[in-house]
Order: sequence, then C-alpha cells, then structure tokens
Amino acid sequence: MMDKKLLDVAIIGGGPAGLNAALVLGRARKKVAVIDAGRPRNAVTREVHGFLTRDGISPSEFRRIAKEEINAYPSVSFVADTAVSIVGSDGRFQIETEQGQTFASKKLLFTVGMKDQPLAVPGLAEVYGKSAFVCPYCDGWELRDQPLVIITKGTELMHFAPLISGWTNRFTVCTNGPDELTDTEREEFQRNQVPLYDSPIRYIASSDGIVRQVILEDGTTVPCTGIFFKPDLVTGSDLPQTIGCEITEWGAIVVDEFGKTNIPGVYSAGDAASRMHQAIAAASMGAFTAAVINGELNTEAWGRNG
Ligand SMILES: Cc1cc2nc3c(=O)[nH]c(=O)nc-3n(C[C@H](O)[C@H](O)[C@H](O)COP(=O)(O)OP(=O)(O)OC[C@H]3O[C@@H](n4cnc5c(N)ncnc54)[C@H](O)[C@@H]3O)c2cc1C
Repeated sequence: MMDKKLLDVAIIGGGPAGLNAALVLGRARKKVAVIDAGRPRNAVTREVHGFLTRDGISPSEFRRIAKEEINAYPSVSFVADTAVSIVGSDGRFQIETEQGQTFASKKLLFTVGMKDQPLAVPGLAEVYGKSAFVCPYCDGWELRDQPLVIITKGTELMHFAPLISGWTNRFTVCTNGPDELTDTEREEFQRNQVPLYDSPIRYIASSDGIVRQVILEDGTTVPCTGIFFKPDLVTGSDLPQTIGCEITEWGAIVVDEFGKTNIPGVYSAGDAASRMHQAIAAASMGAFTAAVINGELNTEAWGRNG
C-alpha cells in the first residue's frame, strides 16, 4: 500500500545547498521536507559576496528570497527544527526532530554545512564576520590594500600568504605559537618583506567589530584593520557520522562525484561535503545532487512499475 506521508527526500539543512536542492526536487515534483535548524555558519557576517545576481546580499535576505521562490512548488515543505536521530535504510528512513516531529523518507540529503570550533583567541569572536574573515574570495575585496593580520601557521600559511598578497601587500603574519615553518619558508617571508611573529596572541583589540590591534604576549602590538584566519571546523551535525557516513580527517562527509555517501540512499552536498566553502559552490552542488537523487527515484519507480 502506498504511504501518502512518505517523503521522497528529507533534506537536512536549509542553507544554499539544501535550498537549491529543494528547488530542483520541487520542480521535479518530488515530495520534500527541508528540515533546518536555522544556524548557518555565515550568520556572523553581514553580506554574501561572489554569488552572481546576489553580490552583497545579507544571508537572511538570501534565504528569504530562496524560500519565496521554492514556495511556488507545493510538494516542498519547510520545517524549522533540528533533526536529532535517524534510523532505517534506503527506501525508508525515519527522522526524529528536537521538537518531537517524525518524518519518513525514501532518501536523505545532508546539507548540514560546517561549524566553527570555539575560537581560541581572546577578542576574535567580537570581530568575526565584521572585520575578521576566513576566505579572501568572500571578503578580500572589502579589505583590499588595508593593513591586515593573517593568523595561521605551517602549510596553511604557505598557501594563504601568497593568496592574500593578491588583495593587499600590507599584511603581517601572527602564527600564535610556533610557526611550523622551515628556514627556507621563513626566508620567503623576509624576501617579500612580510613581518612574521610567533609569540602567542594575548588579545585582539577592537571597537564596534572593527579590529584595531593584535597584541602579542611578548608585548608587540600590530595595528591593523582586518584579519584573515583559519578556523578549526567540524561537520554541521553529528548525524551523518552517527548513521555511519565516512568523514574525512578535515571533518567533511565523504561523497563520490554524484554526492553519494557510503550509505545507500544517503547523499550530501555543500560545505559539509566539500573543501570549497562558498555559497554558489554549495548551491551548485545541492542542485546537482538533487538531480542525481531525482534520477534514482524515477529509475527505481520505473523499475517497480515495469
Ligand atoms: C564569516 C563567513 C563569511 C562568509 N562569506 C561568504 C561570502 O561572502 N560569499 C560566499 O559565497 N560564501 C561565504 N561564506 C561561506 C558560505 O556561508 C558557505 O559556503 C555556505 O553557507 C554553505 O552553504 P551550505 O548550505 O552548505 O551550509 P550552511 O549555509 O551552513 O547551512 C547549513 C544549515 O544546516 C542546518 N543544520 C545543521 N545540522 C542540522 C540538523 N541536525 N537539523 C536541521 N538543520 C541542521 C544549519 O542550522 C544551517 O542552517 C562565508 C562563511 C563565513 C563563515
């Protein structure tokens, strides 16, 4: 007997990846619920940059417009809640939420994003998203030619420093402890006249979210108007791991080129399944994975009826 309440796809996470997946699946006439806790990683920031036709939009306005567009497709519903447990297998997963709701779904799509581990540097939380950022493609233009501090070390630093130099040549590196560089790598900074300090950071001084100085334990003060740093990230939800999805050493869900995880019927897209943390990349991956899921649902139904 057909179960009318059975969803085709439960999308867990309603950021750009989940929303674009919902749009594609809604247009493909699939019954979908987008379960979203409403805590995106970019909630700290005021503007989303680099998304064609939406450059500079606020994260909340982006989501509002997305939902308005998706509402044209009646088979998609939005659930403001947190998924807390999942049981079952391909064809019938059961999802329980924090508020006690239960959903059953043939397929699962995790678009849960990533979340920051607590920021260890005193004063960083006050400036994060206002004058301290993580990605120069997202916020480098706004900080162009300004005196900046980069906070990272080792291999990450060797990648980050030449990248940042495309937006400003007035930057200082604070490694906040041993720099984890070789002598040859340190010489690279000298050649490029980039100051490098390895004293731990005592605190970041700011006013109204704008960084003024980075103060080091050895008494050095580095005046600056912006910061780029590399946060430690974990998957936006423990659920993928709980149901057995493989996770990379940097905290992302392992997927193949079609967005499939190692668990049949379970997919992932967006920041949670990629190293390219940008809204348009997340949306694109969500759209593509939705098409993969839709193709599988249609093929399965065709096979059953044939
Ligand atoms: C400071 C900062 C600035 C940024 N600026 C830009 C920018 O200018 N341009 C740009 O392109 N990108 C920017 N980004 C990156 C961009 O925000 C991400 O790439 C994008 O949001 C990823 O989309 P997503 O859908 O994968 O995840 P997210 O947008 O993070 O959405 C994930 C959603 O899943 C929900 N969720 C998690 N677990 C559960 C659960 N168990 N149940 C229900 N819901 C759950 C979360 O609450 C969240 O709403 C920035 C990021 C940061 C941190």
